[in-house]
Formats: sequence, C-alpha cells, structure tokens
Amino acid sequence: AAPPPALAIHNIQVVYGGAIEAVRDVSLEVRPGQIVALLGSNGAGKSTVLKAVSGVLDAEDGVIEKGSILLNGRAVEKDPAPAIVRQGMVQVPEGRRLFQTLTVDENLITGAHLQSAAKLAQARDFVFSLFPRLAEMRQTTAGYLSGGEQQMVAIGRALMSQPKILALDEPSLGLAPLVVSEIFRCIQTLRETTGLTILLVEQNASRALAIADYAYIMENGRVVMDGTSEQLRRNADVREFYLGLS
Ligand code: ATP
Repeated sequence: AAPPPALAIHNIQVVYGGAIEAVRDVSLEVRPGQIVALLGSNGAGKSTVLKAVSGVLDAEDGVIEKGSILLNGRAVEKDPAPAIVRQGMVQVPEGRRLFQTLTVDENLITGAHLQSAAKLAQARDFVFSLFPRLAEMRQTTAGYLSGGEQQMVAIGRALMSQPKILALDEPSLGLAPLVVSEIFRCIQTLRETTGLTILLVEQNASRALAIADYAYIMENGRVVMDGTSEQLRRNADVREFYLGLS
C-alpha cells in the first residue's frame, strides 16, 4: 500500500479570539519527499495554516474549531507544539526570529533537540555542508549577518533537530532577488540530497512554483485552486493574478 501522506489537513477551520475566522474549510496534502507550496496574498491565511500545523495558535488566542491534521497518518490537531516537533514537523517562522545577540553556532544549537554531542556535531556539519558560508561565520553574532545569511541560519537551526517535514514561512521575505535565488537553490538541494518533505508558504508565486511539485492557492481563508506547479503555471488566472504575466 502507498505510505500515508507526510502531512494531511482535512477541512480545518481556525478562529482567532473567538470571532475572526482566518481559515475556512482548508484541506491539503503533502506526500513524502514533495515540495508543496501554499500561495496567496497578504492576509490570505497561509501563516495561520502553518501555525495550526505547528501547534502554536494558542499564543495568539487561535483555535482549530473544526477539521483534522495528520502527520504520517497520526492525528495531531490537539497536540501542543513540542509534541509536534518530536514527530518531526519543524517550522522556520516568518522573519527568521534568530537570537540576534547569539553567534551562528549558538543559534544552531538552540534548534537541536538531540541528546549526544556526537549527534549534535553531525547535525551541525550537515548544516555547514548545505550552507558553507555559515561555517566561516560560526562565531559571528547573528545580528551582524545579512538577511540572506540570517535566513540560512534559521533554516539551519530547524534542520538541527533532523525534521521529517520542514515548513518554511515566506523564506524570500525582504530579500534581494539574487539572495532569494540562493535560498531557493538551497531548498531544492536539501530536498534532492535528503528527500526531506517541505511545505513552503510564499507570496512569491513564481519562485515557489519553480521548485514545488504541487501548490495550493489561498484567498480569504480558503483554498481557491490547487494543482501541480506545471498546471498552475499554465493557468490563465494564475498567470494574470499571481505571476504578473498575461
Ligand atoms: P501574511 O503573508 O501577511 O502572513 P497570511 O496569508 O499568512 O498573510 P495570516 O497571517 O494567516 O495570513 O492571516 C489570515 C487572517 O487572520 C488575516 O485576516 C489576519 O488579519 C487574521 N489574523 C492573523 N493572525 C491573527 C491574530 N493573532 N489575531 C487575530 N487575527 C489574526
């Protein structure tokens, strides 16, 4: 039989503060080894879906009112964030959220949920193989890094706990086009070399569709369209409204 999806969301509804319905009847699926993009404009509800999946809605008075979230076939919609991380789902939050006064090395260590020093060193070596530039900047304070370098540290920190699924919230945000290319190349390399499953939340549809296998488009809290990246790139509405092409 086919393995269960790495992540499956069935008809979730998320409400903030008992009143604001941010996500309505959203379903999506990420199969093992896929890069799946969640696209849509500002305020469409993408980050809310990610927060629901990561179990961090509480902090913002958000609640999953309906629906289910399955990681490898196991329901997690009632689990707190640490339990979800232990099941292999790790998020790189929007805006990187590094410890600005800690070094690159120290930031990486904060991401490690590993026991032995040997495993920690192994995970860090892997991060440095993916982002060689970080190896040279190990002792640099994070606050002095460029936006792109900070994004690399944020991804590296998430990789330190050796996730099975990595969720990236707007990795391109605020970065120059060349830096975005570099980050996206790294995401692709990561998938190719490790088979890691990736959920990519992006406003930058053309970048995301260039590396994703499949994508969902959200508007006003709902999924309004989904398909393979190829199908979406050929779709006239997607071309006009999300890719700026005619
Ligand atoms: P962005 O790219 O700006 O993060 P998004 O597509 O991720 O946009 P969300 O951040 O999920 O969208 O927001 C979806 C809706 O929920 C918006 O209307 C937003 O104002 C609302 N919302 C988000 N967070 C909260 C919160 N903590 N409390 C109340 N409403 C919220």
